[in-house]
Amino acid sequence: MTETLLTLYCAVHPGRETMLRCNRCDKPICYQCAVQTPVGFRCRECVRSQQAVYYNAERLDLPLAGVIALALGAAVGALAFAVLGGFGLFGFIAALFVGPFAGGLIAEAIRRAVKRRRAREMKWIAAGACIAGIALGGLFLLIGQEIVAGAPLGILLGALPALFFRLDVLLLAVLAASTIYARLQ
Ligand SMILES: [Zn+2]
Ligand SMILES: [Zn+2]
Repeated sequence: MTETLLTLYCAVHPGRETMLRCNRCDKPICYQCAVQTPVGFRCRECVRSQQAVYYNAERLDLPLAGVIALALGAAVGALAFAVLGGFGLFGFIAALFVGPFAGGLIAEAIRRAVKRRRAREMKWIAAGACIAGIALGGLFLLIGQEIVAGAPLGILLGALPALFFRLDVLLLAVLAASTIYARLQ
């Protein structure tokens, strides 16, 4: 039998014969070194350099995304705590619509602020900051209402647990955060 194919050896593991090449830089790669991508097998270096181009965020983009999500989340949270509860079941139905809508607006505000640059961690930070913001908005609202009502500090702190029993707002927060997470991929 004659050997018609040139034997290739992995560029990283010279002892391993292989028949694969990276389809971007043409380097021979063994099965262990190959990374399967939507466009075929590639070597790790090519995958890494492509990710560096894709995730092009600048240093202040992540803090900026967090601050925007926190501030807008607080506004949404204060509104939700103030308005939704008064409507009973309707409040839950409203949360189903308002949650994704608010999340979409926040994600779009972030994407514009960071000029559509991407970072791997952005979706986590923005979604987390949005939930924190919604809780914070509710907290400010609650404290504000108690102060206006002239309640002593003790009653004020006693009212805090009520913040965590608003399932309509919780639903809204989860939907808003998951929308932000999906939009900032
Ligand atoms: Zn390559
Ligand atoms: Zn290898």
